[in-house]
Amino acid sequence: MALVVQKFGGTSVADATKIKRAARRAIRTKLEGNEVVMVMSAMGKTTDALVELAEQISHNPPKREMDMLLATGEQVSISLMAMAIHEAGHEAISFTGGQVGMITDGAHTKARIQRVDANRIRQHLQAGKIAIVAGFQGVTESGALTTLGRGGSDTTAVALAAALGADLCEIYTDVDGVYTTDPRVVPEASKIDRITYDEMLELSSLGAAVMHSRAIEFGSKYAVPIHVRSSLTDVAGTMIMHETKGMEDVVVRGAALKRDLATVALIGVPNEPGMAAKVFQRIAKHNLVVDDIMQNIYEDGKRANVGFTVASSEVDEARALCEQMAEELGFGGVEIDEDVVKVSVVGIGMRSHTGVAAKMFDALYENGVNIENISTSEIVISCIVRQDDGEKALKALHSAFELDKANENQESGTA
Ligand code: ADP
Ligand code: ASP
Ligand code: MG
Repeated sequence: MALVVQKFGGTSVADATKIKRAARRAIRTKLEGNEVVMVMSAMGKTTDALVELAEQISHNPPKREMDMLLATGEQVSISLMAMAIHEAGHEAISFTGGQVGMITDGAHTKARIQRVDANRIRQHLQAGKIAIVAGFQGVTESGALTTLGRGGSDTTAVALAAALGADLCEIYTDVDGVYTTDPRVVPEASKIDRITYDEMLELSSLGAAVMHSRAIEFGSKYAVPIHVRSSLTDVAGTMIMHETKGMEDVVVRGAALKRDLATVALIGVPNEPGMAAKVFQRIAKHNLVVDDIMQNIYEDGKRANVGFTVASSEVDEARALCEQMAEELGFGGVEIDEDVVKVSVVGIGMRSHTGVAAKMFDALYENGVNIENISTSEIVISCIVRQDDGEKALKALHSAFELDKANENQESGTA
């Protein structure tokens, strides 16, 4: 007997018919002799609708209250799913995040799971029930309700799979797997059969919405096999797994476009030791996530412009903090640019192959895309470009690295 966690995304439970379809899938898995835990997202676009509703009341709602509001969406789904399973003659029981011991830190709207107490679920599984858990939500040690950030139900599912020692975590969604890039933006994108945790983590962090990046962190740490697949078919999707022999032969596995981004630059920062530490300690204290740090030095090395990128959702907070720092520390000012995006290519094969950066820059040049900043890691190359150039840049890279032939490349071991 295997233990399977099945997560259903919003579009997979968008109406009563789809809820019943997901229920049948879980029942079938149970009847095949497995223990089944379901993790549910809010129905359809419920979370978006709740966010819009809050905006009609307040432009800057307390984050604690946003969590209280957004967590309701998943509660609707779990109760309806339990009813659907009962209606089909099987036993099921629904739980909120708090009820299953999904303990998080107190960072409202982007809380991180600290531990999961899976005992309660285990008891019900042993009693033969399907356990249904609300995704995206948790509670702090002191009982405050939290949410894990948009798309966070994936993380609930993989964290639960890790805590329960599940044999498999299935992510049911509206695409039939992980593609070389978002198939809605690049129709030539091709489905990837197998991808490493490292590659998926980078793609998710760099804009591939198909998986929440923290889910991949859990998957990798606890070696949870993750299968991303369609809720409408039985076709095999994409396995996210640790690297196996031959996977490094593919140089670029996928490409991604990150849109909700802004650059923030502190102008005229004295170029002296300790200044960067001072600035970034303040930023870290405010829980702001920054990446792509950039620095230009001028005035014969006396001053620097120090910039970084943040998520659009955090730009107001970053602006306020940087303006305060500029005044207190005597910088020239703060410049914000919200018309930027980041385009990236990702592949573990980059560790052992050269020429990827040159090929990327050439493809962007050929398509008239100006590069405003470059960052690299062992398996990623990213460029900041103008927002208007984003999709053109993504398509150019997808074509230059022949990503429309992902599976041919996987088979032949070339890229
Ligand atoms: P769910 O509601 O099931 O969690 P999401 O909307 O969060 O679904 O994720 C699925 C969507 O992710 C797809 O519809 C697709 O447009 C988008 N997506 C972005 N990048 C990729 C990619 N590389 N592969 C597959 N889908 C992607
Ligand atoms: N309902 C939440 C969202 O829309 C969480 C999720 O679906 O993963 O972001
Ligand atoms: Mg999602």
